[in-house]
Amino acid sequence: MRRSAPGHHALGEALRTILCIAAHPDDNEHVIAGSVARWAREGRDVVFCLVTSGGAGTNEHTPDSAGLIPIRERECREAARILGVREAVFLNYQDGVVEPTLELRRDLTRVIRRHRPDVVVCGDPTVRWYGSDYLNHPDHRAVASAALDAVFPSAETRAIFPELLTEGLAPHKVKQVLIAGSLEPDTWIDIGDTFDVKCAALRAHVSQLGAGEWVEDVLRAWAERDGKRAGLKLAEAFRRMVL
Ligand SMILES: [Zn+2]
Repeated sequence: MRRSAPGHHALGEALRTILCIAAHPDDNEHVIAGSVARWAREGRDVVFCLVTSGGAGTNEHTPDSAGLIPIRERECREAARILGVREAVFLNYQDGVVEPTLELRRDLTRVIRRHRPDVVVCGDPTVRWYGSDYLNHPDHRAVASAALDAVFPSAETRAIFPELLTEGLAPHKVKQVLIAGSLEPDTWIDIGDTFDVKCAALRAHVSQLGAGEWVEDVLRAWAERDGKRAGLKLAEAFRRMVL
C-alpha cells in the first residue's frame, strides 16, 4: 500500500477512533465538521478536545468571559451532539493567550493517552496567515503546535511525562494525523452528504453567530473551493501524516 498517495476521499476502515483538537469551541464546526459528521455516520468514535472555552469570543452577549464560558461550552456540546460526537473535553485554558507550552503538551498527551485515538485531527501550526485578509489566530497556531508534539513524540514515549504513567496512562501510538487548514493539502473528505449537518452544528454557536444567516453561503463557498481540487462537489481538505 502506498503510504502517501494523494487524494484519498475516505478514512481507512481500521481507523475507528478520532480525536479532534482545537483552540476554540467553534473551530471544529467551521473547518472539519462535515468530515466529523461523516465519520460519526460511518460508526467511528469521535471525541472533541477544546483547549479554551472561548471566553474572549464576544463582548456583546454577556458582561464578561466568566459569563460567556458556560454558554460557549453548552453550545459546543450541542454542536457535538448534532455531529454525532461522543464527548467534548475542555481543558479550560484562557482564550486568546494560549502558548505552546510543555504544560499544554502534557495536557494534550493526557487526553491522547486516555482516549487512544487512531487519528488525531488538528490545525496547521505553520500557517501565519491565509490569503491577504486573515491573520491566523495565535491560539490556533499554539494549539496545533502542541497537538503535533503531543502526538509525536510525547504520547508514544514512556519516558516523556512520567507523571502520566502514575495516572495509569500508558503510552499510545497515533496512526494518522489529519492537519486541517494546511496550505498544502493532499487529502480531501467528501462532505456532500453531511454539509447540512455541518451548517446546523455551526449554527449552534448562537453567542458567536446570532442568527447565522451567512453560514450556509460561506461554508458552501469553502467546501466548493476545496472540492474543486479533488473533483468533488463539496469537500474539506487536509494534509495527512501516516506515522
Ligand atoms: Zn478559533
